[in-house]
Amino acid sequence: MGLLAKTKSRVEIDLDAVKHNYREVQKKVKAEVKILGVVKADAYGLGAVEAGRVLEREGIEMLGVTNVAEGKELREAGISVPILVFGPFLQEEMRDIIDSNLTVTIGAREGLVFLRQVPAGINRKIKVHLKVETGFGRTGFWPGEVVEAACELKSMAGVELEGVYSHLATAMWREKGYAQSQFRLFKEAMDALEAAGFRDLIRHICNSAALIELPNMHLDMVRVGTVLFGQYPNAHLRESLSLRNPWTLKTRVVSLRELPPGHNVGYSKAYKTKHKTKVAVISLGFADGLQVEPMLKPSGFMELLKRMLKPLLQYLDIKRAAQPVFFEEGEGRVIGKAGMQLTMVDVSNVPGLKIGSWATVPVRRTAVSPLMPRVYFENGEIKSFREGRIITTEAKGLAAK
Ligand SMILES: *Cc1c(COP(=O)(O)O)cnc(C)c1O
Repeated sequence: MGLLAKTKSRVEIDLDAVKHNYREVQKKVKAEVKILGVVKADAYGLGAVEAGRVLEREGIEMLGVTNVAEGKELREAGISVPILVFGPFLQEEMRDIIDSNLTVTIGAREGLVFLRQVPAGINRKIKVHLKVETGFGRTGFWPGEVVEAACELKSMAGVELEGVYSHLATAMWREKGYAQSQFRLFKEAMDALEAAGFRDLIRHICNSAALIELPNMHLDMVRVGTVLFGQYPNAHLRESLSLRNPWTLKTRVVSLRELPPGHNVGYSKAYKTKHKTKVAVISLGFADGLQVEPMLKPSGFMELLKRMLKPLLQYLDIKRAAQPVFFEEGEGRVIGKAGMQLTMVDVSNVPGLKIGSWATVPVRRTAVSPLMPRVYFENGEIKSFREGRIITTEAKGLAAK
């Protein structure tokens, strides 16, 4: 032990905030609507096991992940609520699906073929949700194909068809026309299933944005991740739900010095000091997830314009470019390019900093390395500590920060 005291960067997770957000989600749905907590991608950076555990304790009906391996990790940690795997799986994953009692999504014929090969004598049926393609263009049967797929599943001894769902592409937009058209296609599939005698399926289509703004689509279950973990699918949704942030990336100052005017900072001489500058080095870099943004083709002309204008505004100092770093004593800005594990911060306006001072750095959560230590707080106390993939729950001996 003692490792906790030695970490120079860590993610702090407030499990009470997750509980609070879960209750906010509960308030949005009727009592009979089930809630599926999405804990894919390591629970959006919180850590899937601890996030899954707290949601299970709160009584969540189901958890969702993308991959079989993610579901297996939760089972190995002792989580026993139903787990729905959203993504397609490969034949060699059938063993883990059975052993870990995972519910799978079938959205194409290959999945049916894999299920056909399930050994007859397994002691519990594999639960299946059918996925319907309604406009996301990823996975799913066409609405006109679902009844045939459902009948085929019904004919398999080791399989139980439990649900049917689809996924919305634009629920976070103000403009709801496309979401409505997806819902109409989904309804076609639901109606056809019902007419064919499949009456007790769990039907679901809502993600976080739809939970808030499309209550007519709640059906039997909603699938939420973003709001559970304290983020809003879109800024205009801030008023509709009072969420708490459970996730903070913290790092420490490992060096402090003053640079003269005109001194280069970092790789490629990307920054030069204008004045005498107080510079802190923080124990964080791009290998930890700092400043990694995907470059995508602009989605439209306005998006293109915004992207082109941003550097101009930044050059004119109208829009601040640099990554902020928040200290208890004040706010600094990253200068130069982030290094792999060490990054320079202008702290000229932050009084009283010392080597070892803590800072909070806002970054994209899912970009932060899973190897970064996670410290879990509950009721204001350290509850557990994850280093790499190993969780230590024995609170004794965990040095407070
Ligand atoms: C990620 C995901 C969700 C959750 O979406 P949020 O907007 O984060 O709530 C729901 N369903 C599926 C299939 C997903 O992949």
